[in-house]
Amino acid sequence: MIRVEGLTKSYGAIQALRGVSFQVQAGEIVGLLGPNGAGKSTIIKILTGYLQPDEGTVEVDGLDVLTHRLEVQARIGYLPENTPLYPDMSVQAYLKMMADLRQIPPDEQTAYISEAVYATDIAGFLNRPIGKLSKGMRQRVGLAQAILHKPSLLILDEPTIGLDPTQLVEIRQLIRRLAQNSTVLFSSHILPEVEAVCHRAIIIMNGQIKADARLADLAATRDAILTLQRPVEGFEAALRQVRGVKRAELLATANGPSYRVYGEANVDLCPALYAAATQMGWPLRELRADTRTLESVFNELATRA
Ligand code: ADP
Repeated sequence: MIRVEGLTKSYGAIQALRGVSFQVQAGEIVGLLGPNGAGKSTIIKILTGYLQPDEGTVEVDGLDVLTHRLEVQARIGYLPENTPLYPDMSVQAYLKMMADLRQIPPDEQTAYISEAVYATDIAGFLNRPIGKLSKGMRQRVGLAQAILHKPSLLILDEPTIGLDPTQLVEIRQLIRRLAQNSTVLFSSHILPEVEAVCHRAIIIMNGQIKADARLADLAATRDAILTLQRPVEGFEAALRQVRGVKRAELLATANGPSYRVYGEANVDLCPALYAAATQMGWPLRELRADTRTLESVFNELATRA
């Protein structure tokens, strides 16, 4: 559904994207997760054809966004970070205007608008001016315009920002419901947000993808904690030679050096480490697997960025 390949983008001296590639399959709900300034909005603006990349290609449904911008935009429902809603206009008039802009034939507009109104549950305030609505209601109206033309792909930029806890739960439910009919890519800087709605997260930091995995796999990442009774000459280099070990971090030295050893997701490093310890005669004090929470994985990626 989406294929992004080698995107780079600079704003003057600021390099916002440094070679971003990923794919999203039809039917997926994918979270683009990263701290403020990571490059999420830049990716979304390029995907939706509102910004040109310096390098790289973007395809939606097999169509190149650069050469088929209008066809791509017809397939996408887009909720920008700050939806341009018109405060004096009623919800009804706004949706009618959007239907015109989307070139929905006049005799079909009522049916399209009713469906979007029903899906986002905004029938109760159609005649109210948009400026008089709460932030949560406005976000629903934003979602209604995004799905109005029945797009196969919904792209939402920080859809829950600024919502109170009740509104947040409602919008999450709404996004899950809308995802039954379209592929969804949404951005957020809040981990629980992504956890609540999607199965897969693309973690972006500093203009680069740091992880792209099913949330369950990320959370199941198991490290090993290994403590020696006393320092061993050349230990860290030997540790890196053990099968499956990606890197190790010294945690403490007080009661003998203690390390957190990182491997691949879902791989228990302990058997290989134990075998190495026996073979090399390392004076082990402790060896155990340690499953990390998604939050600690995210924080670790953030500090390494
Ligand atoms: P995010 O959506 O993850 O918060 P953005 O894509 O908005 O990140 O921004 C990525 C980087 O690009 C940031 O350093 C931001 O300050 C910078 N940036 C974004 N838009 C502009 C712009 N129009 N002009 C200059 N710098 C920008």
